[in-house]
Amino acid sequence: MRVLIVEDTADLARQLTQRLEADGYAVDCAGDGEEGQFLGETEPYDAVILDLGLPKIDGLSVLRSWRRGGVTVPVLILTARGSWHEKVQGIDAGADDYLAKPFSMEELLARIRALIRRAKGHAAADIACGPVVLDTRSGRVTVAGEPVELTAFEYRVLSYLMHRKGQVVSRSELIEHVYAQDFDRDSNTVEVFVGRLRRKIGADLIKTVRGLGYRLDEA
Ligand code: CA
Repeated sequence: MRVLIVEDTADLARQLTQRLEADGYAVDCAGDGEEGQFLGETEPYDAVILDLGLPKIDGLSVLRSWRRGGVTVPVLILTARGSWHEKVQGIDAGADDYLAKPFSMEELLARIRALIRRAKGHAAADIACGPVVLDTRSGRVTVAGEPVELTAFEYRVLSYLMHRKGQVVSRSELIEHVYAQDFDRDSNTVEVFVGRLRRKIGADLIKTVRGLGYRLDEA
């Protein structure tokens, strides 16, 4: 899952990035509204954390521009404490959720997980496919009830495929959602991760759809 953070307070952006990366997300950061607007228009994110008070272009204008342009990514806005009118304006502009500053990191992570799950059509925190269960809260993966140890990138690949289970995911889509923008992307490594995942969770769950990509399906 790939998340964009648009936040001009460098310390907060850094904290958010570290926590999100530790929880298995690929993260891009923009320090002003102009860069944020551009990234949101051009890169396929699974969720956006958008501060409203931003240099160059304010967050509300960025959000309105995305929604006018048909960008449907789930957006969580960061509002000033106690400012109910910011929340109302934000939701009217197309925000899916909000948090008032200062917020707890755990609450932000829970809201981002829920936004991504709902956007991909999953109501519950556990996503199951055959014997494989991904607990999106803890990031734990089990196969037939037995915990499976995954590396960070194996987890990213599996998490994306689980959220999109039953659907064909092309290699380029997978690459765009497991790597941050500045990461050196090599399409061959995705094949390597899928190969390792097949050995860990069972060879027949991740199907190769010839010429199209991968599909996670119950065996
Ligand atoms: Ca700000």
